[in-house]
Amino acid sequence: MRERLLTHFNATFGRSPTVIARAPGRIEFIGNHTDYNGGTVLGAAIDRGVWVALAPREDGLRRFASALREGLVEQPADALAKLNGGASWVNYALGVLAALPEFGLRVPAGFDFLAVSDLPVGAGLSSSAAIELASALAFLELTGERPARETVVKVGKHAENNFVGVPCGILDQGVSGFGRKDHLVFIDCRGPRFATVPLPAGAQFWIFNTHTRHALVDGLYAARHRECMAAAQALGVGLLVEATPAMLAAARGRLSTATYQRAQHIIEEIARVGATVQALAQGDLASAGRLLTASHRSSQRLFENSTPELDFLVDALVTTPGVHGARLTGGGFGGAVMALTNDQFSEVEARIVTKRYEDEFGASPDTLQTQTGDGACVVQPGSASS
Ligand code: ADP
Ligand code: MG
Repeated sequence: MRERLLTHFNATFGRSPTVIARAPGRIEFIGNHTDYNGGTVLGAAIDRGVWVALAPREDGLRRFASALREGLVEQPADALAKLNGGASWVNYALGVLAALPEFGLRVPAGFDFLAVSDLPVGAGLSSSAAIELASALAFLELTGERPARETVVKVGKHAENNFVGVPCGILDQGVSGFGRKDHLVFIDCRGPRFATVPLPAGAQFWIFNTHTRHALVDGLYAARHRECMAAAQALGVGLLVEATPAMLAAARGRLSTATYQRAQHIIEEIARVGATVQALAQGDLASAGRLLTASHRSSQRLFENSTPELDFLVDALVTTPGVHGARLTGGGFGGAVMALTNDQFSEVEARIVTKRYEDEFGASPDTLQTQTGDGACVVQPGSASS
């Protein structure tokens, strides 16, 4: 990737970059819709990501290019408006520039910017957080500032929430920022507090992206958010993380069936995250896998954020040799299924699963096999550190 980046940078800007940073994509391992309920979540940074290279310019102009997109976008350094009514990819980098002063950090003036990536976009692997964190680290390297990792994570989230306008939780940027090879990232969303948890050897991730998306997904997501907040209020707590199974059982008569089930999913899902951490500490991938599948069944029956396509994939996967467990990954209502497998699971088994899906739905999901990888880092430091 580094060679590709250097060649492309030279071809685009006629010189070499002075700074390079990289940030990985991520998988939501377990912890479904727990973030905004103040709960816990486990994610994995993967071995694919976005690389950003920069060279400063004296004339104050900012030029943006991506190997994934045609053309060059030019912006004067004093302009920080959203482009194309929000649709341009450059908004992710501009959003980071706009976020830096909110955290007391300097904003670089003119530069040439290039992104290259081996991460599929829009596949639920959070390429958006990857480009935000790679951009943030590269910009900071250019201004010679080295804030705490947690601040870089918050800069990326601020860019996505406030500039791009996507209300994502801390999972995406937190895992991209704190990821570590052969580890999962544990996030207590109330802090937020970040920790890494070793992943036993031999674990593989397989992603099956259905490319389906419920037509009403934004509205459905907002509805689940509202239902969780209403449930918390009915239970007399600020957020569902503070509620216990006993409190929920006592409130049964006061809650609608749907509200009860949403709360049950969140309360049990937070407990599953804790149980998964314990299973992993004992090197027990089989138990961790069963918890993943239980998480999916809860999404399917209680939280009702699954779809027939995702359910079909989970059913097919959990009856395939080599699979520890499988679940929808991300917000649901379409998107992707993740399977935790041993290293015997291969293209052959994946192909059997996708063939069955094709026979049922007439379309084929994309498959991607991946492992854990390291979190965001500066690959080529600027003069500030040399
Ligand atoms: P996800 O984060 O699941 O991949 P999003 O819709 O949140 O999906 O973010 C995808 C968007 O992020 C892309 O449409 C593009 O605007 C931007 N993006 C991500 N990676 C790159 C890249 N390498 N070059 C240009 N834009 C990118
Ligand atoms: Mg995203």
